[in-house]
Amino acid sequence: MASAETIHVDGEWRAAASGAQREVLDPADATVLAVVAEGGAADADAAVAAARRAFRGGEGDWPRTPVAERAALLRRVADLLQRDRETIALTESRDTGKTLEEGRVDVDDVTAAFRYFADLVVNEGGGRVVDAGSDDVHSVVVHEPVGVCALITPWNYPLLQASWKIAPALAAGNTFVIKPSEVTPLSTVHLVRLLAEAGLPAGVANLVTGTGDPVGARLAEHPHVDLVSFTGGLASGAKVARAAAPAVKKVALELGGKNPNVVFADACATDEDFDTAVDQALNAAFIHSGQVCSAGSRLIIEESVRDRFVAELARRAERIKLGRGTEKGVECGPLVSAQQLAKVEAYVASALAEGAALRCGGKRPEPSETRPADGYFYAPTVLDLCHGDMTVVREETFGPILTVETFHTEDEAVALANDTEYGLAGAVWTKDAGRARRVAGRLRHGTVWINDYHPYLPQAEWGGFGKSGTGRELGPAGLAEYRESKHVYQNLAPKPVRWFAG
Ligand code: NAD
Repeated sequence: MASAETIHVDGEWRAAASGAQREVLDPADATVLAVVAEGGAADADAAVAAARRAFRGGEGDWPRTPVAERAALLRRVADLLQRDRETIALTESRDTGKTLEEGRVDVDDVTAAFRYFADLVVNEGGGRVVDAGSDDVHSVVVHEPVGVCALITPWNYPLLQASWKIAPALAAGNTFVIKPSEVTPLSTVHLVRLLAEAGLPAGVANLVTGTGDPVGARLAEHPHVDLVSFTGGLASGAKVARAAAPAVKKVALELGGKNPNVVFADACATDEDFDTAVDQALNAAFIHSGQVCSAGSRLIIEESVRDRFVAELARRAERIKLGRGTEKGVECGPLVSAQQLAKVEAYVASALAEGAALRCGGKRPEPSETRPADGYFYAPTVLDLCHGDMTVVREETFGPILTVETFHTEDEAVALANDTEYGLAGAVWTKDAGRARRVAGRLRHGTVWINDYHPYLPQAEWGGFGKSGTGRELGPAGLAEYRESKHVYQNLAPKPVRWFAG
C-alpha cells in the first residue's frame, strides 16, 4: 500500500479520487508522521456502493454467514490485534500523543470488545419465542442486520471508538463504511487491514479517510446508508442527526461530557483514603491530558476538605511528567493539535476573567529534551473557586483543566453534579454505603462510579443522558443498535376471520 492509498473500497486500497492528500502530524513536535488520502464525496459514494453490493438486501455473503462463523472471524481479529499489539500501540501513541502504555491498554480493551461481541452473538441462541396465547400459533422475534452502516469516529480514542462500532456491526451481519478523524486516521487503517487478513469478504468493511465535511457529511445524508453511528462533539453530532433525518435512517450519537467527580469529606478520613481520593481525582481529570469524553473535569468537593484536597491536587498535578508519549517515564503526552491547544488556552483565559483562582498550570510548560518546543503541550491546570455560571464549568474543554466547586449537603452535591446539559459519566466518593447508593441513584449520567473513576466493561452499556447522546455502545444494547427486530408470527391452523360479512 503506497503511503496515500488509505481508502479501502471493495477490498482494494486506493488514493482519493481527486488525488488529494493530507499530512498527519505528530503532536509531540508537529512533524509529518504520515501522508494519507484526503477523500471526498465521490470516495464516500464509492464506499457506500461497495457496502451496499456486499449487503445485497440482506442476501450478501456476510449477512448470510452463520453466527458462529461471524464470531470466529471476530475472534481471529482479536488474535491479530494482540499479535500487532506493540505496533498498533506505537501508532496510536504517535498519532494521538497518548503514552505508549495507554496505547497498549487501548489494544487490550478493543481485543476484549471483539471477544465480547463474538461470545454475545453465539451465546444468545436463536430468536425469542413469544407466547401468543394459542397452541395454533408459533411466534418468534428474530434479529436482522440493519444494512449499510456509516461509522464516524473522533481523534481521542481512534482504535477504541472504531472497534466499539465495528465489532457489533460485524457481529450483527452488517456491512459498513468507516470514517476516522482526519487528525488521527492511522490505527483505523491498520484495523481495516486486519479485518481483511482475518478473512472478511471484500466490500464488507470500507474505509474513507477525509474530513467531516465532505466525507462524514456525505455519509450521514447518503440515501443508501441505513444507520449512522457517530462519536464526537455535540455540534457535529447535531449536524449528523439533521443530515440523516430526511432519509429516516437510524442514528446513534455518542457525544461529549462535563463529568462530575463528587468527593465527600468522609472519603478523606484517613491519610490513606485521602491519598486514594486525590490520586483518583488526578487520574479522572488528567489522563490523556483530559482529552477523554468521560474525564472527571469537575471536582465537586465538600467544603470542609476543599483547601487540603486542592492544595495536594495542585502539588501533585505540577509533578506530572509531560512529554512525548513514546518516551519512558512520561505520564502525559501533548494535546492532539494546535487547534486543541488554542481552545484550551482560551478556556483558561475565560475562567480567569470570570473569577476562577489558578492553583497550578495555566500555561504551556517549558520545552525540554522530552518536550519539543513545537509540540502541543499544556500543563495540568487546577482552577479553584469555580461556579456553574462559568463557561469553563459548562462547556467541555477536552483538555487538562480541572475546575473545583464545593458543597455543604448531599442535596447540594447532587444538584451541582446534575447541573449540566450533558450526562455521560460521574463518580461519587464516600465511605457511607447508603449515601453512595442514594447519590448514584440520583445522578443523571450514563455511567456512575462509586469510589473509583474511569473503569468500564465491554459487557456494560456505555453512553449518555441528555446531550451526551442518543445511543449506547458495548453491552447487549451496543449490539442491538446494529439490528432490526423482526416478529415472525406463524398461524399453524389458518381459518377465515369473518371480519367482513361478504
Ligand atoms: P468532532 O465532532 O470534531 O469530530 C468527530 C468526527 O466527526 C470526526 O471524524 C470528524 O471528521 C467528523 N465530523 C465533523 N463534522 C462532521 C459533519 N458535519 N458530519 C459528519 N461528520 C463530521 O469531535 P472530535 O474533536 O474529533 O472528538 C472529540 C469529541 O468526541 C468530544 O466532544 C468527546 O467528548 C467526544 N467523544 C465522545 C465519546 C463517547 O463515548 N461519548 C468518546 C470519545 C469522544
